[in-house]
Amino acid sequence: MRRLDGGTLVIASHNEGKLREFHELLEPFGIAVRSVGEFGLVGPAETSSTFIGNARIKAHFAARETGAPALSDDSGIAIDALDGAPGVHTADWAATSDGRDFTKAMERVNQLLERRDAPRPRTARFRCALCLAWPDGHDEIFEGTVDGQVVWPMRGDLGFGFDPVFLPDGETDTFGEMDPQRKRRMSHRARAFAMLVTGCVA
Ligand code: IMP
Repeated sequence: MRRLDGGTLVIASHNEGKLREFHELLEPFGIAVRSVGEFGLVGPAETSSTFIGNARIKAHFAARETGAPALSDDSGIAIDALDGAPGVHTADWAATSDGRDFTKAMERVNQLLERRDAPRPRTARFRCALCLAWPDGHDEIFEGTVDGQVVWPMRGDLGFGFDPVFLPDGETDTFGEMDPQRKRRMSHRARAFAMLVTGCVA
């Protein structure tokens, strides 16, 4: 497995929540991060039907355009009673003409579950695929998952995206209510990231 040899790592995301989490995850390893936004780059179209496929598209684009190693994250929530939706389309479900509205997206999820009279617990999982790509086209892939259920009403405002409706297995707080440091220890992103650190950093 190829290792990162210091220097700058470009984070191939414009998502403030993800950028914050990556900065905090990478800081202890002395890795400086910059976002693709700082290079004035607009992300490529995410045309794959898989998390890994979209992670690859984003990381290779950023590495090629900036000439530096780039890390991307493609993630989302898959709800069993909705046949895995919204899945790779999680961000799209929040799209409005004025930008993303996750409150609306969570309301839509709840309405669909109610309409289907989905039994409780409404099991779901957050999934994350990380792609670390180099300008020469090499890449490494890592995946992480956290199982739980979708709850209603929304609870907490500490996280981002679908955090207020996701209750991880064995917990009493949703990701939206949980201390961010605790979320970072158990999240889908943290699990994928731990494998990246073992393989490419530590
Ligand atoms: P993308 O990977 O940028 O296409 O979008 C993934 C979407 O999934 C984000 O916009 C969030 O809404 C959602 N998501 C991914 N990870 C998390 C998380 O840790 N908490 C809450 N929502 C998340």
